[in-house]
Parts: sequence; structure tokens; C-alpha cells
Amino acid sequence: MRWQDFGSSDNVEDRRGEGGGGGGFGFPGGGAGGLGIGTIVILCIIGWVTGINPAILIGGAEQMTGGREPQQERVGPQTRSQRSNKPTDENGRFASAILKNTEDVWSQVLPNQTGKQYRPTTMVLYTGGTRSGCGSAKAAMGPFYCPLDKKVYLDTSFFKEMERKFGVKGDFAYAYVIAHEVGHHIQGELGILGKVQSRQQAAGQVEGNRLSVRVELMADCLAGVWAKNSNDKYNSLEQGDIEEAMQAASAIGDDKLQEQSQGYAVPDSFTHGSSAQRMRWFMTGYKSGQTRSCDTFRAAAN
Ligand SMILES: [Zn+2]
Repeated sequence: MRWQDFGSSDNVEDRRGEGGGGGGFGFPGGGAGGLGIGTIVILCIIGWVTGINPAILIGGAEQMTGGREPQQERVGPQTRSQRSNKPTDENGRFASAILKNTEDVWSQVLPNQTGKQYRPTTMVLYTGGTRSGCGSAKAAMGPFYCPLDKKVYLDTSFFKEMERKFGVKGDFAYAYVIAHEVGHHIQGELGILGKVQSRQQAAGQVEGNRLSVRVELMADCLAGVWAKNSNDKYNSLEQGDIEEAMQAASAIGDDKLQEQSQGYAVPDSFTHGSSAQRMRWFMTGYKSGQTRSCDTFRAAAN
């Protein structure tokens, strides 16, 4: 993807490297040092008090690293003044550029196609762990969208993880993950997340999972809509980009992940959709470029 000219988003909260000094919690060196006793106590309290309510976390690929405990979690005091909004490292610049492009694209496409103004999401970059409006965020969860604070949470080491665990690499594969999370934000803006969540509360586990799959596939489709409109307007796609996204969509399908972790797939327990579904819905959005093509709830066959 030709992202170098996208510019950078004003809606990035870079919390990486936080946790050292400042609040007096005494995190060792602010780096990847050992766990101090203070850290452990804080982790327990945060885990106990906030926990993670899976019902309000909308993850793009959180299961990619599911089951693996994070090496450590550093939740530091977050002082806005310490945050830089313009990352200078490669991963940070990339994430910021992709976010900026989703803003440019959706602020045109959403009003044109739905009559609704686009209010951008904020993307929080973090390492290890941080706090979100939905509870504590851990790198092991993968990127996710929290509808309560309307922010996308991304540990940029996730990109490395995608490559290491699944052999998925390429900037467009990573861009697809970000666009998928932004897709959840759009679902929130359109009032879809709220409706689904109330239906889920009334539904049983199987039906709840089925609704989750619809939400996830719609986010994949919206990522496709973004890709198409981005390319039309900015000529941003390069040879092989769509294949990269397909590879990513395939690698993070629930069936693949389950087969990998337990040797077989249990469709009723899918929350994101199968590899084939994820690829197909991305392509549906990409081919049409139309938000309305992403109505995964109406689609009879899947
Ligand atoms: Zn998702």
C-alpha cells in the first residue's frame, strides 16, 4: 500500500513507553524490565476491579493470540501531556497514516452513502497493557474496538505477531486489521453495535455467537469498502495488496484458529466467522465500495 503520502492522524494517542516514573509506581526503567512487586499488586487490582467484559469488547483478531498469557502487563499512569500524537517510528507512523486515510475516506463515503457525518475514532497505541473504557487492554488480546470510549486499541507488536504466528505480513494485511477496527467504529456510529448488543443480552450463547459473526463480517466488509474507496481516490493499492488482506482474513478465521489450537473447528462457537466468510465479505465490500453491500444480517446465505 502506498501510505507514505497519507499524512498522519490527529486522533492517535501514543501510550507506548508509558509506565515509567510519573505516578510513583516504580516500573523498572519504563522498558521491558522485570516485574516489580508494585507492578504485580497493581495488575491484580486492575484485573480484579475492571476485569474484561467480553461482551463489550469488539475485537478484530483478538483470538489470534488467544490463550497465551501476556509476558507482563504494564499499566502506567496516563498523563495526557506525556503522550505524543505524532509517532515517529515506522510502526507508529504507519498506523497513524492508515488511520488518517480511513478518516479521509469515511468522512466522504459515510455522508454520501448513509447521510451520516463521520466522527473519527481515536486510536490508542500501547505496549504490553493499558487501560481502556472497556477494562484493561492486553497485547495478548490483539487489536480491539471499545464502544464505550469509542477508541481502537492497538499494540503495534501485534504486526510482528501476525507474521510470527501466521506468516501473515505485508503492510496491507496490517492496514486491513486497522480498517476492520475502524469498521466497528462505523457500526457504532450507525447504531448497529448497540442494537446487536441488546439482542445478544436476550439471546443464548449460540445465537449470541451467531450475531457476533455477523458484526465481525460486516467490519470485514467495511474494511473492503474503505480499501476500494481509498484506491479510487488515492490510487493507494499496490500489486499484491488484496492478496495480503485475503491471506490475513484467511489466517484469522475462527475455523483456522480453532483448528490450530484444538485440532478441530466448532462452528457454533465461532465469533468472527470462518476464513472463507471473512475473505468473501472483505471482497464484497471491496468490489462494491458501498456500505449498504455490507448488510451481513440480511444476507440469507453465508
Ligand atoms: Zn472485529
